Amino acid sequence: MPTYIVLLGPPGAGKGTQAKLIAEFTGLAHISSGDLFRENIKNETELGKLAQSFIIKGELVPDDVTIGMIRDRLSRPDCKGGALLDGFPRTTVQADSLAGLLAEFDGKVNYVPYISGSESTLIERLSGRWTCKAQGHIFHEKHNPPQRTGVCDLDGSQLYQREDDKAETVIRRIQVYFTKTAPLITYYRERGLLSEIDGAQPVGKVNADLLSILRQ
Ligand code: ADP
Repeated sequence: MPTYIVLLGPPGAGKGTQAKLIAEFTGLAHISSGDLFRENIKNETELGKLAQSFIIKGELVPDDVTIGMIRDRLSRPDCKGGALLDGFPRTTVQADSLAGLLAEFDGKVNYVPYISGSESTLIERLSGRWTCKAQGHIFHEKHNPPQRTGVCDLDGSQLYQREDDKAETVIRRIQVYFTKTAPLITYYRERGLLSEIDGAQPVGKVNADLLSILRQ
């Protein structure tokens, strides 16, 4: 049976950083909805143009578009053994669709680690975040600075500040998270799948907590 992990948490809780570590550890395909949108924006696809108009405002991309994109991605051969979903689902409509989709692949959501974070920490983390152009590696100017300013330690590519990491957009993203995505905490708790992790801890400790949940 394939294994599917849904990584839940507010923007800035450290989902992206942890997802990369967990994907390496488990060998599961890492599916980041945000990265898929950004790839489409870079390639100037129709999907990218549509998504961009929502992303720059800090709003969610409509469910039907997002679900279609994830369906395509989950159908690829590298997801045969399962996947680590980062940033999807973000609404209860998406969560219901995901359950239906995974049933098509004879699977279901197996784990939902939820990385929590307080609002002030989230704003501080997002506004100091630098992202690598080539592969989306994540740094923070104070908490996890790259060795050379503006250069990714891992692949040497240029670091940039995401347009949606600007202060006004960050605040809107957090509001959207609390109204549309936070209900998924109850949704997955009721299904007995949720495990909470304190995202205010250092990266290594969050990672250790995550791995111990996945070993259970
Ligand atoms: P973060 O988790 O740091 O907020 P992401 O990279 O996951 O950022 O997402 C960036 C943006 O992409 C979101 O603010 C939203 O506009 C869009 N997006 C990503 N995933 C989804 C989703 N599942 N549903 C709708 N929109 C999404």
